[in-house]
Amino acid sequence: MTVQLTDEKGLLPDGAGALIENAARAALEAEGIFGAYACVTVVNGEEIRALNKSTRGVDAETDVLSFPQIRYPAQKTARDVPQMLKKAYDPDFGLAFLGDIVLNIARAEKQADELGHSAARETAYLTAHAMFHLLGYDHMTDEDKRLMRAMEKRAMKALGLFKNGDRLMTHEDYIRLAEQALDRSYSPYSHFRVGACLVSESGKCFQGANFENASFGATICAERCAVSCAVVQGERRFTKIYIACDSGYAWPCGICRQVLNEFKAGDMEIWAGSPVTEWKMLTLSQLLPEGFGPEDVSRTAEG
Ligand SMILES: [Zn+2]
Repeated sequence: MTVQLTDEKGLLPDGAGALIENAARAALEAEGIFGAYACVTVVNGEEIRALNKSTRGVDAETDVLSFPQIRYPAQKTARDVPQMLKKAYDPDFGLAFLGDIVLNIARAEKQADELGHSAARETAYLTAHAMFHLLGYDHMTDEDKRLMRAMEKRAMKALGLFKNGDRLMTHEDYIRLAEQALDRSYSPYSHFRVGACLVSESGKCFQGANFENASFGATICAERCAVSCAVVQGERRFTKIYIACDSGYAWPCGICRQVLNEFKAGDMEIWAGSPVTEWKMLTLSQLLPEGFGPEDVSRTAEG
């Protein structure tokens, strides 16, 4: 956990909670801080206006407010003050408490419209921005601003949702990532290279490639390689996978269909193609009709 989220009025759209968590974690990782959390409260325009007035004396609606728990010395950020982080340790969560973030989600959506990018991008950016305030960054002077922007850029890039930390990843970006993964394939025995790009429900993507073994049965396919990478990074629900080979199509083998079935979010889209072949899509239910999945195990247990 990186954020303790409160959304009493249910203002957050689907998937935004996971996005806020991921953006906050990306900010912490950019700073090199582990074992810390923040409270994020989602409010409407009126509420943030009242809070802005009572805490900062500014009678205006704003997008986000942050209230750091730690008083950082001048020119220092969280990574410079491990002792202060220790003092902020919260035994209830077993993490250091960095402070509170108050987010006006309607304003984020409106700003995204005005700036011509997605609401998801704006929400992630505001979360990361507020996290960096909790980590001791500010933008009062030009130099401070430059440092903070550089950190925000790093976090947005690490988030992996956006091309160049800016626009949302597209279908073409995922195809390119799958084709790029072909170069990582270790296939000295079959010489059949496969690359994959797996996309999670939160929009994060994970590359994979097949890697073979002198003991042939130890070989792992590109799809299962990508699923392994994603699962150990905390993702368990996937909406799409792109599977590239050098020419023609490499639809997933039986074992991989079964593994994808375990972690599917809805009816997963399976895309296959190559740098010289037109990409095609089939759904997982087409590739694995009447598949056996986690829900069947619990049904059996109940009798
Ligand atoms: Zn396979």
